[in-house]
Order: sequence, then structure tokens, then C-alpha cells
Amino acid sequence: MPELPEVEVTKRIITPYVIGYTILYTRVYNINLRWPISNELISIKNQVVINIIRRAKYILLELKNGFIIIHLGMSGRLEILNKNIKPKNHDHIDFVMNNNMIIRYNDSRKFGSLIWSNKYHLPKNILNLGIEPLSNDLNYNWFCNNIYNKSSLIKPLLMSTKWIVGIGNIYANEILFASGIMPTRIIKTLNHNEIKILIYNIKKILLYSINLGGSTINNFSCNRLTGMFSKKLQVYGRYNAKCNKCMNTIKVIRMNNRSTFFCDICQK
Ligand SMILES: [Zn+2]
Repeated sequence: MPELPEVEVTKRIITPYVIGYTILYTRVYNINLRWPISNELISIKNQVVINIIRRAKYILLELKNGFIIIHLGMSGRLEILNKNIKPKNHDHIDFVMNNNMIIRYNDSRKFGSLIWSNKYHLPKNILNLGIEPLSNDLNYNWFCNNIYNKSSLIKPLLMSTKWIVGIGNIYANEILFASGIMPTRIIKTLNHNEIKILIYNIKKILLYSINLGGSTINNFSCNRLTGMFSKKLQVYGRYNAKCNKCMNTIKVIRMNNRSTFFCDICQK
């Protein structure tokens, strides 16, 4: 599933081919994604893309009157291609640009979505999102003021988009290992040094993955990025393997129905 780093890399890759260019028209091969592609989206004509914004795992293409809001779901990807390249299986929509390129949306499992939104009535699932982990909004003071007095467990909170967006299961596991914090720790038991280390590692690990994608990806496959980052994983998916720091055996438990990997010597 594309996570925040993959979505950010996708945004960075498509930006130079899209921003400032005009969507001439759309070519729709299948409207039945997670929600049907609406007529407003299908009928877009001669609209300049003013900006591209990533918010959590959404990519927003800003046009004069509104946004095309794209979510990649489980298996969606955006490709920039020459406009004459014929569609293959699972290609659902093309935005034909005035630079002879197309933005093509491909999604084999069809859990992704493309919706149109008026500029002044953004959907609730965008408006109610928590803060961006890579922005300056996520800092020590914000954590202490908003989260620190909670008696919930740290890992589910890191993954809750109500507070901080875009930290999926793989990254939550890796961030907590790098920070030496057990996924089952109650938040208010963290000391101030642990909070600082945790915030540092949230940013460091997400940025590391983005940079890995940005420097190694030369097509637009999300799977390839995940593949690169997966070679660097310290705990995720390493049940029964030896901890790279202390040679202890990596354990796994289920938390909120998600696999949770940790080293009970390195993490307290
Ligand atoms: Zn260890």
C-alpha cells in the first residue's frame, strides 16, 4: 500500500510535467473505482494545473475552481506518459495535457479514488486530518500540549490520522525501534528525552524513505520504492530474526489488528 513517502515521491515526480500545464480533456476507461468518477471530473476541459499539494496520503491537483483529489488506495499509481501510449489492463483515466503528456491513473485493486472538490467545500476526510509529520507543526511543544497527557498506547496513536497523518504500520514499527520505545508504552510514561527522540525519528525515517525513492526510482512504480525501503527495515517483517543492534530475537504481537514487531532489549 502506498504510504506517505511513496505518495510524496509520486507528487515530486509528476510535478514538473503537470504544474503550469493545461489539462485539455480526460479519457476515461473505467469509472468504477472506490467511488465512481464523477461527471465534473470527466468533463474537465482546458484547465490549468495551478499547484500540486500533498495532504496526508492525498494528492490534490489545484485547478482554478477546485481540486482533483487523488488517493492511491491499496495499489493505485500515477504515471506520466506520452499521450499516444495505449492503455493497458487496470488503466482507468488519463488527463491529457497540453505538453503531449498524459497523467494516467492505474489501479489493479480499484480501492483508490479520484474525486472533484469545490475549492471552498473540501471533503471532511481532508479537513479533519491531523498535522503533517514533516512540517514544523510536529514539534516537542505540540506533542506535549496535545498528546502527552493521554493514557493510550503510543503505536496506535502514531498511526491515528486524527493526530498525525501518514505514519503507516511499517513506519510506526521502524520509528519506535529507532527510538528505543516499546510499541505498547502508555504515552504519558514517555520521558521528555524519549519524546524528542521520537519526533526526531518520525521525521528522519520518513525523509530517509522519500530520499531513497527520489534517488532510486526512475519509473513511477510504488512497489519499487517499497522494495528499496524494505531492504533497510530493522524490525518490520523480521519475526524471529536477530536484532541488528543486540542480536536478541525480534518478537511480534498484534495491536489494533496490525502486526507489531519489536526488540524487547533495545526497546523499553
Ligand atoms: Zn535489540
